[in-house]
Amino acid sequence: MPGIGHLIFGLCIVIPLLYLTKDKNKPVNYKVLFIYFVNNYLGPDAAHVYWRTGHYLIGFIAFAIPLSLFYSYMSRFSLHRTAHFFDIADDGAREVNWKNAYYATVAGGISHRMIDGLFHGNSPFGFAPWFDLSLEDINTWVGYETSTWIVLDMAFIVFTIIGALYVLREGFKKSISFLAIIVGTFTIAALATFFDVTGGERDVAVFFFSIVFILAPLLLIAHADREVQAHALGSQPRPRINRWISLVMTIALGVMAGVFFALDRTDIAGFFVCGIPFTLSFVLDEHKPGAPPRISRKFLVPFLLALVTAIVGLFFAAAVAAIIDPVWFGTEFYEFGSPDGTRLVGIIFIVLTSVGLAGCIGSFLHNSKCRAIVMVIGTLAWYLVIPFGLALLLSEKEVKSWFEKPAKEKAL
Ligand SMILES: [Zn+2]
Repeated sequence: MPGIGHLIFGLCIVIPLLYLTKDKNKPVNYKVLFIYFVNNYLGPDAAHVYWRTGHYLIGFIAFAIPLSLFYSYMSRFSLHRTAHFFDIADDGAREVNWKNAYYATVAGGISHRMIDGLFHGNSPFGFAPWFDLSLEDINTWVGYETSTWIVLDMAFIVFTIIGALYVLREGFKKSISFLAIIVGTFTIAALATFFDVTGGERDVAVFFFSIVFILAPLLLIAHADREVQAHALGSQPRPRINRWISLVMTIALGVMAGVFFALDRTDIAGFFVCGIPFTLSFVLDEHKPGAPPRISRKFLVPFLLALVTAIVGLFFAAAVAAIIDPVWFGTEFYEFGSPDGTRLVGIIFIVLTSVGLAGCIGSFLHNSKCRAIVMVIGTLAWYLVIPFGLALLLSEKEVKSWFEKPAKEKAL
């Protein structure tokens, strides 16, 4: 499970961006920031649940394609204060389209890998299964002794300082071209002199780190924000895949994944699971404001409820197993410190999943309190994406009304 450190890092990135645009008439879009923030926390780790390669940067860049569709769907909701508590409100249209949600999702994944690479104790940054580097590795790229090439280094430094004074005034385009020129020529010089040209730091390692882990995610966030600002809410083009086809695809993917899980080929199963958030979000996608949805929510809500009931049921069964035989559970799955610790976590999960199961059953019966329970449990299970999709679906205006109106009016 990703630690809270990821979250604090994310806040440390997004808060200055908010400050920067605080007094502008178009402050930075908070939904873009949130998509970045949450994927910086669990993006690659959530991918890992379904597909091992998804925890590598290259795998996550692929996994983010379906995953970001889910976050794009999520952007049609916002949190509102009510007299009693908070409520998830359905704004009726996505604010962040798929492409921009993808940029923010990938940016989050990059930051996640940076924290993993820096603070997991010499673990690599996790670029790809066949190619990887750790902080230690990039620190061996460069010699450390000062040589006569220091003269060339000093020339670069002076040129960069004076050049920056000019290009920063000229704006973004000139500045980024300037950066590319300096990095390019210095790297060539470093290679030509077998890295003797570098100064106090391992300069080429600094270039690599700064571009991959600082520049890339911040530019992705900034680009997504600029695009979202340019399009008014609701003017995003809608996906053109038929909802019924998407639903059939979702079920087919689920079945295929199940088959491969049963055959113990978890990595192949992961491929199929990867597609689920993708197809699911087409199913969940908004329709034209005012027009009836192409798939009745009367069918969709029970279908997703059944899926989530099954997931909660699985966790319930696992919790029972952890309580009855914590030692076996610890060796087969996961040990929480000690057998006693595993048992304690099992007890907590029994309580949570019992409430969750009760909520699911009550929701089938259109009970509004149970709707709230499923939403809380679904949000807690954000990690698995699908339960949270249900929580959002239950917040859609028309779905919410089923739970609030008396039974007679429901048919209308
Ligand atoms: Zn991770």
